[in-house]
Amino acid sequence: MFHRNSNRFGRLRSSGSAAAADTATEEHEIASASEKVTILVCGAGPVGLTATLECARHGLQVKIIDKSLTKDPHSKAFGIHALTMEKFLAMGVAPAVLEQAHCVDRLRIRGDFTTVVEDFCHIPSRFKGVFMLSQRKLEDILEAHIHMYGIEVERGVELLDFVQAEDQSDASGTPSVGKGPMTANLRDVKTGEERNLTCKYVIGCDGCHSRVRKLLKLPFLGAPYEEDFLLLDVHFSVKPGQRFQGSSVLLGDPVIALFELDCGLLRFISKRCAGDGIPASQDDKRIADVENAAVEAAILKRFQDLVLSRCPELAGLHDVKWASIFRIHRRVVPQYNVGHVFLAGDAAHIHSPLGGQGLNTGIHDAVNLAWKLGAVERLGADPGILLPSYNAERHPVGEQTLAWTDSLTSYTMTRGFLSGVAQKVLFPIASPLLNRSTWAMKAITSRMSMLSLSYRGTPSPLLPSAALPASSLPPIGSPQPGDRVPDGPLVRFSSGAATGLLEVVCRGLDHTLLMFGEPEGMEGLEGVEDGLTVEKAVRSKLDPEVEAWRRLRDMVSFVHISRRFRSASKSVTKVDARGSSSRSHPRSSDQGSNGGAQVRERSDPIDKKSSGGRHQVRQPVALTSMYDESGRVSEAFGLNTSGQSGSRGNPACLFLVRPDGYVGWRAGDWDLGGLLTYLEPLYPRGLCDL
Ligand SMILES: Cc1cc2nc3c(=O)[nH]c(=O)nc-3n(C[C@H](O)[C@H](O)[C@H](O)COP(=O)(O)OP(=O)(O)OC[C@H]3O[C@@H](n4cnc5c(N)ncnc54)[C@H](O)[C@@H]3O)c2cc1C
Repeated sequence: MFHRNSNRFGRLRSSGSAAAADTATEEHEIASASEKVTILVCGAGPVGLTATLECARHGLQVKIIDKSLTKDPHSKAFGIHALTMEKFLAMGVAPAVLEQAHCVDRLRIRGDFTTVVEDFCHIPSRFKGVFMLSQRKLEDILEAHIHMYGIEVERGVELLDFVQAEDQSDASGTPSVGKGPMTANLRDVKTGEERNLTCKYVIGCDGCHSRVRKLLKLPFLGAPYEEDFLLLDVHFSVKPGQRFQGSSVLLGDPVIALFELDCGLLRFISKRCAGDGIPASQDDKRIADVENAAVEAAILKRFQDLVLSRCPELAGLHDVKWASIFRIHRRVVPQYNVGHVFLAGDAAHIHSPLGGQGLNTGIHDAVNLAWKLGAVERLGADPGILLPSYNAERHPVGEQTLAWTDSLTSYTMTRGFLSGVAQKVLFPIASPLLNRSTWAMKAITSRMSMLSLSYRGTPSPLLPSAALPASSLPPIGSPQPGDRVPDGPLVRFSSGAATGLLEVVCRGLDHTLLMFGEPEGMEGLEGVEDGLTVEKAVRSKLDPEVEAWRRLRDMVSFVHISRRFRSASKSVTKVDARGSSSRSHPRSSDQGSNGGAQVRERSDPIDKKSSGGRHQVRQPVALTSMYDESGRVSEAFGLNTSGQSGSRGNPACLFLVRPDGYVGWRAGDWDLGGLLTYLEPLYPRGLCDL
């Protein structure tokens, strides 16, 4: 390991001379003697830990560092949304989160005389609610999972700089981070010692004051809100014989958001008002911990005064866990990567905490990026298509989320739209209508749960370039390329075991081809109940396209879903994915395979302990046959569900699902040739190797 005490990278960047070129060569030689990894993740917050876990799961060699020696004792984020829980299912962390989280299944907007109840029972996910778990506990769970891959967070190690080894002579001062290996300059914060590390990619998950973003010279576009906000995490008591109404937005002046956390605490957030007697936030810090006992007492008193009259069931607030005065920013970078250096989480976007989107969005960034890096490094996918798609997909989502949380914050907290006339007149009129409208509730809760976010309409190079004629498309209403793949219960033909579609499509590492229906020529199988016979028949349909089948099988797993043929097994075995000792979660149990951590639908080619980024020998993946007994999967895909088993069943169509659970491509027939045309540019090396 090479240690040094001076940072030579700054000097290299600013010279651009022949001498610098010599030094660059020398630097390159030194770098080649230093530590090497494929990916350096900078920052061990929830986003950095997710990026590390996902990269490791996709077979990449990854190192994670954090400049902080200890973990932050406070928990900024609490709410984990349904879409994130679906990602956690794929990552294998959902059972641990379910075990520890408190599920908020209804959110109330409480006015003087009426209440609107946002019920998450309407959302199209098995995770029906917001799962309240402190950020600290979530980080512990994620860290325990990266340990399973033999990875430890290197704490007390700060990223100072990085430079590309092959081209260090950029005199403009712009970081030179194209496609070659990079040398990262790291500092031990205890000893001050510096060392070099060679890596191919850097993922900057280093929070809102991101060093990586600054090194890339990317502006953080946006502004702070004018108002200061108050936060209080506090224990509470309820009056005898009364029931606490739960997480709510309390209308009034000011509006107060209150959430039940996972440990018997309530969190209150409201804007700081003039005359509160509470000082302004420190401008240089996003969250100022209130260490001054008098100010902490003033914040407690302020919320007691505001809340106890509006929540008559509450007897009192006591034992403050955390009080804070903070300034909210709304900012986003103009692009999420420069060459092989990527930004994720708060390093790329920060929003108002209302709606609880920040941590969730950051986790989705990491999941979106990791499979693409895995596909490039492990499967030889084209980096020119896969890597730019990260920015093309995630930047628009970041901007949408910023706009959504901004309007939520402006209308409820800052502009006071929901005060005065709007609160007194409009809200009482609108609330009965809202409470009765399942459609409105589904739209609101699905947006909050992030399930309705789509990459449709983004400039992603992964969206099919040529639109198919309507006659070649699946029926109207089925998911389109860029949409999240819907979930639903399925039964395995071979064993009769119950499972869920998400377990089938997201537990593996590659694309999954969902083959619905039975194409022409399978009518003769009417009434056949033996799953293996059906499987054989499906294969026989593929045989004429043997070349396509042979070429596709190395990059795609095939799953046939039938509405027509019953499982071979009469008695369906329920899979208890979390083991007998775990408790079931009342709001996430409608799949019969709740949690799903232990369910392996197909073999995972990565040996967890020993993967370490070595190229894995990929096994051909067999066709898996599933029975859609309830018809809910077919319905979610917009297919005909009127036919019962033994009738004509679903129309034949294909959906290619990406490893992150989004539809990549679809066709209204078993068009394997069309699928090859879509996949060939993505995996040029994979096809040549065959
Ligand atoms: C009051 C409040 C409530 C919130 N509630 C929610 C919620 O309910 N749901 C939600 O989704 N979001 C919520 N958020 C937002 C959420 O907290 C953040 O989006 C989330 O913490 C971002 O995680 P991150 O991993 O990107 O960054 P961070 O958690 O900030 O982690 C960054 C890490 O990088 C390290 N680091 C920094 N620089 C370097 C360097 N040079 N070298 C090495 N390491 C470095 C830091 O030490 C730190 O550990 C809330 C935010 C606030 C303020």
